[in-house]
Formats: sequence, C-alpha cells, structure tokens
Amino acid sequence: MNVYGMRAELGRDGSVKTWHMMKDGALTALCGHDLDAAAPLEHDSAWSHTKEPVCHTCGALYLRQVPYESMISG
Ligand SMILES: [Zn+2]
Repeated sequence: MNVYGMRAELGRDGSVKTWHMMKDGALTALCGHDLDAAAPLEHDSAWSHTKEPVCHTCGALYLRQVPYESMISG
C-alpha cells in the first residue's frame, strides 16, 4: 500500500514556494524533484487546497496513480 503525502519546496526566503507529492515519506517527489527533509509536510488530501501553487507534474502523476474512488469520496 502506498501512502501519499505533500512535501513543500521552499523558496529562498524559506517560505513555501510549491507543493510536491511524494510517496511513503520519500525525499524525492513524484516528479523527480529532490526536497528538503526539514520542509513542511501536508496530508495528500490538502492537494489543491493550499494557498501556494502545486507542482503540475506531481499532480498529473498523483491523479493517475491514486484510484479514482478515493478522489470522489474525499
Ligand atoms: Zn513535483
């Protein structure tokens, strides 16, 4: 079973620049972007509900990998 979560990419000022999606706590996002272990985390249900932008590549991969039922029941 795969557990998805969001991990932030930080900007130069330390604020959240973009949210990526990762699997099982990985430091590498679905899109291949390497992320900081100290960066903020979010539950995957927060995808598209953050005020910061989300990574389009991660979004496309995430929506392909997660069963459709979990998207409509959430
Ligand atoms: Zn990404």
